[in-house]
Formats: sequence, structure tokens, C-alpha cells
Amino acid sequence: MPRRASWNSDAPNFMTAPRTVILPTETRTSIGPVLTLESLTAPAFRGFFENLGVGGVQISTDGRFLQVNQRFIELTGYPREQLLEMRVGDLDHPDDREPDRERWAAFLGDPEVGYDVEKRYIRRDGATIWVHVTAARIPMAGDEVTIAKTVEDVTERVVASHALREREQRLREALAVKEEFLGMVSHELRTPLTVILGLANVVARNGSSHEQVQRTVLEIRESAEHLASLLESMLVLARVGEEAPELEPILLDRVARRAIERHREVFPNRKISVDVSTDTPLVDGHEPWIVQVIANMLGNAEKYTPPKGRIFVLVERRDDDVCLRVLDEGRGIAEEDQPRIFEPFYRAAHAVKESGGLGLGLAVCKRLIDLQGGEVWAATRAEGGAEFGFSLPALDPDD
Ligand code: ADP
Repeated sequence: MPRRASWNSDAPNFMTAPRTVILPTETRTSIGPVLTLESLTAPAFRGFFENLGVGGVQISTDGRFLQVNQRFIELTGYPREQLLEMRVGDLDHPDDREPDRERWAAFLGDPEVGYDVEKRYIRRDGATIWVHVTAARIPMAGDEVTIAKTVEDVTERVVASHALREREQRLREALAVKEEFLGMVSHELRTPLTVILGLANVVARNGSSHEQVQRTVLEIRESAEHLASLLESMLVLARVGEEAPELEPILLDRVARRAIERHREVFPNRKISVDVSTDTPLVDGHEPWIVQVIANMLGNAEKYTPPKGRIFVLVERRDDDVCLRVLDEGRGIAEEDQPRIFEPFYRAAHAVKESGGLGLGLAVCKRLIDLQGGEVWAATRAEGGAEFGFSLPALDPDD
């Protein structure tokens, strides 16, 4: 068995069995003259050596170049004279030098060990190229041995195979994300659906009083609305690159009041303080989207604030924008979560433990506000709790 050990996953093994050196026994066959070691300096051999399609070098056992062919000169970019003053390791990429020194020592020290390596060279112009190098011992006159090497530029293949591997890795990651997402989505959709089915069964059973039926139907509606908003969020985020519909002049304070009213219907026990200035200028927007953003921010404030905590909604003009801020008295946002809070599927560790959710609500807010030319933000308030807000450019009254 040849001895093998790999170093670069897509590189050939460096300790292959040595190639058998086949030496011609005749200088002439019936077909034509044969190049032999004895005729090494003959013009015929020179021509043969110089015109090889791969780099060819002869090196001494102590690692000096004895001769190099034209292709090797082209490959490295160094002139012949300079190469003949260099040693084999001089061309190696600094990171490949140490492992290659070991391989080279193993090759020189043991006739049973071959040398078949993919590694990097630094060309004279500083560019890095990948080369496939093989070496063989050539017995010379007496007991002397010289080393013949072939050097092939395989940069294109290696770069392509690295790119392929990277793409595969990205694909694997994307598939893992997709699988995780599907798991989360099925779970999130199943919960309200199970509630709806259970409650519908209760209503279907005879014997419930009119009030019971009414109460149950309201609960069914609540779960159905939750389901609808989950689906809507996924649709918003799935429509990548979509353009905003025609925007219209909107009074943010009015839209805010409407969204707050809706929120109060679902969460009647929470105290929401509203400070909405009524003389803010118009903004360009798409009303259903703005309602959705406010609903998501209010929904989060509700979810992440203890029952006694208050929620504040403020609408005000700030320079050239009109902004809406939702403040709460919950735990605020940890520093490590801050940069990622608007990413799809991102949820803080406490949220994962303590409450349901897909981590889509804020990503939807960002997408919808971006599409309307505005900005979103999140901050922890100095007095505790979180602030979520967005701004839209104020319309010039002369427009
Ligand atoms: P979800 O609420 O489904 O997790 P969101 O996209 O709405 O998804 O929110 C992303 C994360 O941002 C939440 O998991 C939570 O960690 C954090 N977050 C959102 N709103 C608040 C808030 N008002 N207070 C504290 N943390 C919040």
C-alpha cells in the first residue's frame, strides 16, 4: 500500500507511492531516435524539455534549481538566471512553506515516498497561483541522484472548486435555515389553528348558551386574526424587491389613533397613553402598511411588557420628518440584540424562552417603512423599557 496523508481537502495526496522511473534502454527504435539521460544536453532533449506544456525543472537534492524550462519561467514570471539562483521553497506561499518542507524531507529521506502536491506559488508579480507539483528521483551516472519535477498551473480548477465548495456550503446553510423556518412556521401556524378547531368543536356541540357561543366565536376570531397576520408577515417578506404601491398623503396622527383603537379592542386592559400632535404635516405613505407597522410595534410592547406596565404612543414632527414612537415599560433590548433586532427570524434569547413568535414582526416593519422611504429604529429607554419608532419624510405643503 502506498503511504498517504492528505493536507488540502481537494489536493492530491502528498505522500503517494513514488513514480517508477522508466529509463529508455535504447537510443533508437524502429520508429525513431529516443531521448536518454546520456543525451540530456543534446539539442533534441533541450527542445523536448523546453517545449513541454507543463513546467519542468531539474533540482539538486539540496533543493537548488539546476535547469528550468520555458513553461516554468512563464508560470513563475522570473527570468531563468534568477530562478537558477533560487531554491525550491522560495516560490512557495508562506502558509504552505512549513507543510511542504516536511513533505519534501519525507520524499528525500525515503525512496518509498513519492511527492504529488497541490500548493500555492507566489509569482514574481506578487500574484498567487495554485500549482500541481510532482517529483521523481532520477538516477544519474554513478550513485548520484537528481530530482525531476513537473509543475502545472491548476489555479483555474482550484479556484473554481473552492467557489463550488463555498456555494455548496451556502446552499447547505440556506437549506438548514429553510428547514428550521419550516419547523417554526408549522409550529406557529398549528397553535392558533388548534385553538380554532377546538373552539369550533365547542360551538358545534349543542347545549352552549348564546353568551358562551358569542364568547367562543370572539376567541375564534382572535386566533384567526393571529393566523392571518402570520401569513401576511410571511408574504410581505417573501415578496423581495416588490415596489411600493402608489403612496398617498397621510396624516400619521389619524392613522395612529385608528391603530391604537384596534389594539385596545384586542387588549382592553392595557393602559396606553397617547400623545399625538394634531398639527403634524402630511407624509407620503400607504395606509394599510402604516397600520400594520404600528400594530406590530404595539403588539410587541404588549407582549414584552408586564401587565402593569404602561405603553406610550407619540407622534411628532422632527426636522423634515414626522415620527411615531411606541414606548413601553418592559425589559428593553439587550445590547447584543440591538444590531439584529430587525433581521427576519431574529429573536432575543429571553423571547425564545418566554413567548411565542417567529421573529418576523420587526422585519416586516422595516421592510414596509423602507419601501415608503422612511426609517425604523429601536432603543432602550434611559428610564427602562424599549422604544420602537419610525419616521417618514414630511410632505412640503407647497407640493
Ligand atoms: P417576535 O415578537 O415574534 O419574536 P419581532 O420581530 O416582533 O418577533 O421581534 C424580534 C425580537 O425583538 C423579539 O423576539 C424580542 O426579543 C425583541 N423585541 C421586540 N419588541 C420588543 C419590546 N417591545 N421589548 C423588548 N424586546 C422586544
